[in-house]
Amino acid sequence: MIQRPRGTRDLLPPETCLWQAVEGIAREVFGAFGGEEIRTPVFEATELFVRSVGETTDIVHKEMYTFPDRKGRSLTLRPEGTAGVARAWIENGLGDRSHPLRLYYLGPMFRYERMQHGRYRQFAQIGLEILGADTPLADAELIAAMHEFFVRLGFSDLVIHLNNLGDPEDRVRYQEAIRAALAPRRAELCSDCQRRLDENPLRILDCKVPSCQAVAADVPPMDAVAGEGSRGHVVRVEAHLRRLGIPYVRNERLVRGLDYYLRTVFEVVSPALGANTVLCGGGRYDRLIADLGGPAIPGVGFAIGEDRLIEVLPEAFRESVLSRPKLYLVPLGEAAQAAVLALALGWVREGVPLEIEATGRSLKAALKRADREGFRAVAIVGDDELQKDSVSVRDLAAGSQTSVPSTELPRWWHELIGRPAEGR
Ligand code: AMP
Repeated sequence: MIQRPRGTRDLLPPETCLWQAVEGIAREVFGAFGGEEIRTPVFEATELFVRSVGETTDIVHKEMYTFPDRKGRSLTLRPEGTAGVARAWIENGLGDRSHPLRLYYLGPMFRYERMQHGRYRQFAQIGLEILGADTPLADAELIAAMHEFFVRLGFSDLVIHLNNLGDPEDRVRYQEAIRAALAPRRAELCSDCQRRLDENPLRILDCKVPSCQAVAADVPPMDAVAGEGSRGHVVRVEAHLRRLGIPYVRNERLVRGLDYYLRTVFEVVSPALGANTVLCGGGRYDRLIADLGGPAIPGVGFAIGEDRLIEVLPEAFRESVLSRPKLYLVPLGEAAQAAVLALALGWVREGVPLEIEATGRSLKAALKRADREGFRAVAIVGDDELQKDSVSVRDLAAGSQTSVPSTELPRWWHELIGRPAEGR
């Protein structure tokens, strides 16, 4: 037996209905804010991620799927989406378009993660980027669009954790400040953080190891070191969020795992799910495109972890998607079998979702199955019905049966599902 690789999953129906529904709402909401979809390759030159995400980050350091192709070029399965969008912006001359550009993407990402619940080696993200606007309003718009997406899914208790990461100039000073503060306590840090102390001290602040957290608690917040520019920027973002009533907290320990962020960074957590369930992460990255060899175009974006999102979807949303009504079309006898596809096609074209009984079940067995599988109604076509150009329809919720002309079936169906169904 060949098995799927560790850390990957098969997404099966009916769960895939939830994925489609969530993706549909993402397209709708982000599209309504002027967002357009971008699709970039799932593999890129390794160099792209080393230069954007950052050489010393966990992602690049130990989580990338990197391999030489047959000509010996180093390629990497994308661990995140923003770097590819930035590369595509430069390579396709998107700078010629009118800005800001709002680009969203949906698709698989790959990270060689240690196995734990909710962490996969192939996982999906839904992301939105606003390119070409450096204002606090753009950050707030991005967060508002994201919040609206979550609200449409029925989340009501989400909190946005927000921080100021400062400008790159501030960061150099801040890294030094952390290093100076923590060097005498090196022995108290985990082995990863001992490496971070040399390479990227900022990341010590969001280490999940309790002893590291205790040590990090003594480090002054970034905001205390940051310049006026970034501090004023994030304060204005906060004012927008307050005006919209979007709940947020300032989290001085939030640094995010990617080097390209500056100024505003944020994560979305659900207190009901525990503070470690991060549904989304994002931030501003005004130097990324320039660092990759393009012009100085500012950007801000986020990525939602779709796997985790699906796992914690509000029950009402799950229910509304998974209980969509369907008609069970049962042909009885040979003449009905011959005619049933043409009937089905006509009804499908008029928006009736149906399933044909294609195994030759008896009426009794078919009705039993209809109950078991939760069909909303059954349409029975036999010799009698064919002769009269009609169909016997059974409303399973009401337990009643009538006959309707076959051309009238779509109207009957739409009326039926327009009415609240008792019992289901
Ligand atoms: P990041 O790019 O690390 O900020 O991730 C953004 C979001 O993607 C996170 O908040 C998670 O919800 C999700 N995510 C990241 N890595 C994984 C993974 N290995 N498995 C599942 N979801 C992930």
